[in-house]
Amino acid sequence: MSAADDAPVPAVRIRDSVEAIGAYVAGRPAAPRTDVTTYKLSSNENPYPPLPSVQRVVEQAAEAINRYPDATATAVVEALAAHLGVPADHVATGTGSVGVLGQVVTATCDAGDEVVFAWRSFEAYPLVVQLAGAVPVPVPLGPGARHDLDAMAAAITDRTRLVLVCTPNNPTGPVVHADELERFLDRVPRDVLVVVDEAYTEFVRDPEVPDALALVRARPNVAVLRTFSKAYGLAGLRVGYAVAQPPVATALRKTALPFAVNSLAQAAAVASLAAGDELAERVEVLVAERERVVAALREQGWDLSDTQANFVWFGVGEQTQALAQAFDAAGLGVRPYGTDGVRVTIGEIEANDRLLEVAAAFRAGQTGGTPPAG
Ligand code: PMP
Repeated sequence: MSAADDAPVPAVRIRDSVEAIGAYVAGRPAAPRTDVTTYKLSSNENPYPPLPSVQRVVEQAAEAINRYPDATATAVVEALAAHLGVPADHVATGTGSVGVLGQVVTATCDAGDEVVFAWRSFEAYPLVVQLAGAVPVPVPLGPGARHDLDAMAAAITDRTRLVLVCTPNNPTGPVVHADELERFLDRVPRDVLVVVDEAYTEFVRDPEVPDALALVRARPNVAVLRTFSKAYGLAGLRVGYAVAQPPVATALRKTALPFAVNSLAQAAAVASLAAGDELAERVEVLVAERERVVAALREQGWDLSDTQANFVWFGVGEQTQALAQAFDAAGLGVRPYGTDGVRVTIGEIEANDRLLEVAAAFRAGQTGGTPPAG
């Protein structure tokens, strides 16, 4: 052995911005049980199994997985353009909308640039921003767990390159309304991109929401982000997209990893758009279930934010871990967030019934007959 062999091996240098990042915390299933069916209500997934027509197309596509997928996802882009009524060059795809979000940050931010978003919001926002070496600027939600767009406008500096508006907001549920968003956009510098993240748009029934695609037509600095993971039930295949005017959409195509959308995902996305009516029926059931659950929880005395997504938010503060444990003990895997609250996805009808039972029992235990705290 030479002296060199004994020298301490230097650690590989990892970028500081990467060292600083915590791992993404994904929603967990409920602890395994033998006595009751358990339900995973922790990731805002669609509880329905894949449509048989979509599954068949994926099986057929599997016969050719020795080949690379279409690098430009042309069939998906064309089907989306027809479905949305937008030119194909306004559409950019990616590995889930979180992949597209990464493309957005890469396209807009150099190290040290700032990205403004509401907080609490989607867990991946600060991670994706930090991965690019950019600086997250979280702006606390306002009353009703809604975006505080005035505070977000005030947080924009000359280092801001990107603003994320999550509507409905994950994990709290409320939407941003058209009039407030227009006022906000009027205050954003024209060279700052505003991404309207509409991952849950298909579940929205509030008529006052903006027509985000019209905003994209009218404003070169607005992009809309959407996904096949929620209403379309393709979370496991990872396909999402952005709609934006060509300079932005072109940049998003450049910043995608090559072959980002795999061939099974491409086939399933096209087949899902073709099966839109069948999928819309499922979404209707989930929306009706959401309305039923929210009404019943309010009846129980819970003070809930107005959700327009496929989940409800219990903003219970210090009771967060206790409430999450109560759900878990009943076979429901849910998503606790520190000492902010618990997000529970609307799932199968039996799962939702159990959600209501656990919530009622928790309140009874907490309040002991005195006026409850929401
Ligand atoms: N945006 C929001 C607001 C979300 O809640 C999610 C999923 N939790 C995503 C984007 C990303 O979804 P996907 O990458 O599966 O498209």
